[in-house]
Amino acid sequence: MKNEWNARTKMVHGGTQRSQWGEVSEAIFLTQGFVYESAEAAEARFIETGPDEYIYARYGNPTVAMFEKRIATLEGAEDAFGTASGMAAVSAALTSMLRAGDHVVAARALFGSCLYVLEEILTRFGVEVTFVDGTDQAQWAEAIREGTKAVFFETVANPTLDVIDIRAVAKLAHAVGATVIVDNVFATPVFSRAIEQGADVVVYSATKHIDGQGRTLGGVVLGSRQFIRKTLEPYMKHTGGSMSPFTAWVMLKGLETIDLRVRAQADSALAMAKALEGHPKLRRVIYPGLDSHPQAALVREQMGKGGTVVSLEIAGGQAEAFRFLNALEIVLISNNLGDAKSIITHPATTTHQRLSDEQRAALGITPGLVRFSLGIEDTDDLIADVMQALDAV
Ligand SMILES: *Cc1c(COP(=O)(O)O)cnc(C)c1O
Repeated sequence: MKNEWNARTKMVHGGTQRSQWGEVSEAIFLTQGFVYESAEAAEARFIETGPDEYIYARYGNPTVAMFEKRIATLEGAEDAFGTASGMAAVSAALTSMLRAGDHVVAARALFGSCLYVLEEILTRFGVEVTFVDGTDQAQWAEAIREGTKAVFFETVANPTLDVIDIRAVAKLAHAVGATVIVDNVFATPVFSRAIEQGADVVVYSATKHIDGQGRTLGGVVLGSRQFIRKTLEPYMKHTGGSMSPFTAWVMLKGLETIDLRVRAQADSALAMAKALEGHPKLRRVIYPGLDSHPQAALVREQMGKGGTVVSLEIAGGQAEAFRFLNALEIVLISNNLGDAKSIITHPATTTHQRLSDEQRAALGITPGLVRFSLGIEDTDDLIADVMQALDAV
């Protein structure tokens, strides 16, 4: 594997390690254990595990290691650790480095489970969490203080698609020695340059664009070798949220095609957003790739493209939003995103149902808001489907 390879070559070949059989497609090592040549060899491996040496699949596995190497080289990170789900990655990235008395600053607009980890779990163990409006630099500057241990945010927030300035927040965080942990799902590994822009730790739900075909749950934490091997790995190997070899194989196959899929999805998302802007049945079309997006300049600088998700606010509120969803013929009502199939969801009654009306209002999750994840179907068919469903509203 060569570091000077361009991204699309790394996506196909990065991290590949062949067995003595020289297989073309990566092998799935469906084994939880590994045989030692002698008792002395077992003892030596438990004292120090060398490269290409394994002990137990909860600690590491050759197929999982191929996935970790492939995504690390792609993302420009020194190392990576595969996890059982995106939430295993988010919770481990935070919990592995925090202790009682620590202070964390987080953006308020978060995926529901990320909010739960910060608001309900970490605080139970004595971590203090301050929430800010992630798009407001003054709020970050006020909340980040001497001794703040970490900052956490989704680089593009779910489902309001606010985009947070990684460089600006990282500058404030690094000035007090805080670790910058970002959930980068909506930016995708295709459009991300988060590490180069100042993130110390990048987390993905691989369930989304990396699998990209809705088959498996998985996640990954990326960062410095020191963070991954000395902070995260000890936590993961003893608490049990490791990735399975079969999942790693699905994710390796997903990475092979991610660039083609995500670019096609982003092109469709932009075409859809443009076709819908100004539609009389819509109050708002939110897409980071539109010039009308509040952080349009930042999006161009930070991601280049607007990603694969468009959020729409149906003018008639929840009743009309439901009518719109129910009238769609190609687009599926479900709550995954980044899938090859186009998927739409009504956040206020599903992913963000747990929040109070006030919390939802503060985040801009209105009764008419729908989150639309563009798939790889024909763009014209998708636009026609959405237009006929809007006619039903
Ligand atoms: C889906 C998602 C997660 C959680 O990932 P799972 O694989 O479902 O555990 C975390 N953050 C964001 C932004 C997500 O979209």
